[in-house]
Amino acid sequence: MAGEKVLVVDDRPENRDFVVNYVLKPNGYQYLTAKDGEQGLRLALQQSPDLILLDMQMPKMDGVQVLEALHQKGRDIPVILMTFHGSEELAVKVFRMGVKDYVIKPFQVSELISAMERALAEVRLRRERDALTQQLMLVNRQLERRVNALNTLYSIGKSVTAVLNLEQLLNRLVEAAVYISGAEEGFLLLVDRESNELYVRAALGLEEKTARNLRLRVQDSLAGQVVRTGEPILIGGQGVKIETAYLVKALLNVPIKASGQVIGVLGVDNRVSEEAFGRHELDMVSALAGYAGIAIENASLFGTVEGERRKLETVLANIEDAVVLVQDDAADTVILANRTMCTAFEVSGEVTGQPLAQVVDHAALLDLFRRARARARSAHAEISLPDGRTLNAHVTPIPGVGQVAVMQDITHLKELDHMKSEFVSTVSHDLRSPLTSIKGFADLLPVVGSLNAQQQDFLQKIQRGVETITELISDLLDLGRIEAGVNLEMMPCELAPIVEKVMQDHLNHAHLKTQTLQWEIVAPLPPIMGSPLRLGQAVSNLINNAIKYTPKGGQISVSVTEDDGQVVVTVQDSGIGIPPADLPYIFDKFYRVQTKETQDISGSGLGLSIVKSIIEKHQGRIWVHSQAGAGSTFSFVLPAIQN
Ligand code: ADP
Repeated sequence: MAGEKVLVVDDRPENRDFVVNYVLKPNGYQYLTAKDGEQGLRLALQQSPDLILLDMQMPKMDGVQVLEALHQKGRDIPVILMTFHGSEELAVKVFRMGVKDYVIKPFQVSELISAMERALAEVRLRRERDALTQQLMLVNRQLERRVNALNTLYSIGKSVTAVLNLEQLLNRLVEAAVYISGAEEGFLLLVDRESNELYVRAALGLEEKTARNLRLRVQDSLAGQVVRTGEPILIGGQGVKIETAYLVKALLNVPIKASGQVIGVLGVDNRVSEEAFGRHELDMVSALAGYAGIAIENASLFGTVEGERRKLETVLANIEDAVVLVQDDAADTVILANRTMCTAFEVSGEVTGQPLAQVVDHAALLDLFRRARARARSAHAEISLPDGRTLNAHVTPIPGVGQVAVMQDITHLKELDHMKSEFVSTVSHDLRSPLTSIKGFADLLPVVGSLNAQQQDFLQKIQRGVETITELISDLLDLGRIEAGVNLEMMPCELAPIVEKVMQDHLNHAHLKTQTLQWEIVAPLPPIMGSPLRLGQAVSNLINNAIKYTPKGGQISVSVTEDDGQVVVTVQDSGIGIPPADLPYIFDKFYRVQTKETQDISGSGLGLSIVKSIIEKHQGRIWVHSQAGAGSTFSFVLPAIQN
């Protein structure tokens, strides 16, 4: 491939003409000619030809001198020597000075052309290599810039979640936008919804005063256009002047969005340089704007959560109940304990992050936490404090968090309850003696003299009344004793013989009402901790009621079974049932259902409260299913002794 520039240096015009007319012109080379060594050297230095055809013997400056001069100047132009026979030896010597080949005069056209092509092939190869190297370096530089930009994006991305200081993060984002886009200055504007203006939240390169005072109307500014349309703006380049808040030559503004709404603008610009921003800068700055949106949204969410947390903390700190929240781990690590809690349990120092057992030295409370966890549902207990106060404590599991204990001071209620029980017990006691006298003298009346029919009727009424009051008083005294824990000594016991005895005792009673009384005890039953006397009393009260509230000819069945580490006792009857409206109250003291069916049935309204009290003293639970007219089923469970 010809076209290269060839310099012919020969003192003989016929030689120069020959080379030009027969070799260079016909083959499409460009050419220059020099008539001696001096001119040749000058042209070579000025025009940088691709190849020099150099005669050896010339006046003023011969070929060797030209070569030496070029070599000294560091000019590496390939040279083909045109020599005569006999000077080959010299030609070999100058090969190290850039001489690629030689032709011996007189030479054939084809001979020179092949020598030139050989020399130029090398030149062409070198040029291609240089061009490729240049290209590679350019691509390398671009790649390096992109890697840097991506690294910046990556580290900013990490900061979005790691840096909690929004101010600092937004400034970093603007710095990154300026760095990545190679801009002169950058800014982050946010929309003030009240005034519908944009104000500077972070800036780099902008004068401090400008940044502080800059407010752009969303309605009629370039940045405002980005807010209105949600689309980026990319303008500028050679000779362009853009009027923004001041004159800039290139500008890139991208929207910052949060929850699908444009909340601001991230922008970069050049005021001095005419360098425009391109697609790459747009993509990068858009990515940064995305981070800005996330960071601002996060900060606002964080602010809300933090606010709520503070509110909750204030409520908890000032609440009168003692509250302690522990984590769902083996150590019951304390997450939160309020002031009432710390005062009540005499806790001082740092409690958060400590195992509960190290914070609180109170066996009953720790046991309550253990119980709630084992049952995976809330547990309740009354807890006595060293200062004599009583707390009503509920420990409730909170899925995914842990367990919370809420404890209410019920000391005052306990005192009142105690006073009431004492009062009832004193009054009941005091009523007993006169009642015994009334009963004694009433029983004696028929003995001291005969009574007419009416007197006998009155006497019976007196005796029934006295019986009812005596029953009521004995129930009241009993309830007081149970609540006070009298005759409630707990021991390992079997429920089967207790129930068996109660059933036997009631057979006669049921028989009198022509009722069938049957029972099933599914052995083996695990032992329980309890008072046989009180448990017998509880079962007896339930059977009594079943017989009492079931008409003649009805059926009563009792079952005792084991279920999941608990003993379950069920008393079912085919009696009058309980209306739904009364169901929530039947375990309350003195509550009696007032219906047509119950009006002739006497009772104190204390039987079920006694049962409930006994079962709860045994850490058990009692409940009822009933429907008016369709019978009732009372059930209670007692925990078996853990192995
Ligand atoms: P009482 O002395 O009135 O029987 P209880 O406390 O034993 O008092 O029972 C409270 C009320 O619950 C009773 O008045 C009665 O209306 C209702 N009741 C209790 N057991 C039964 C039952 N097995 N069937 C229907 N009603 C019942």
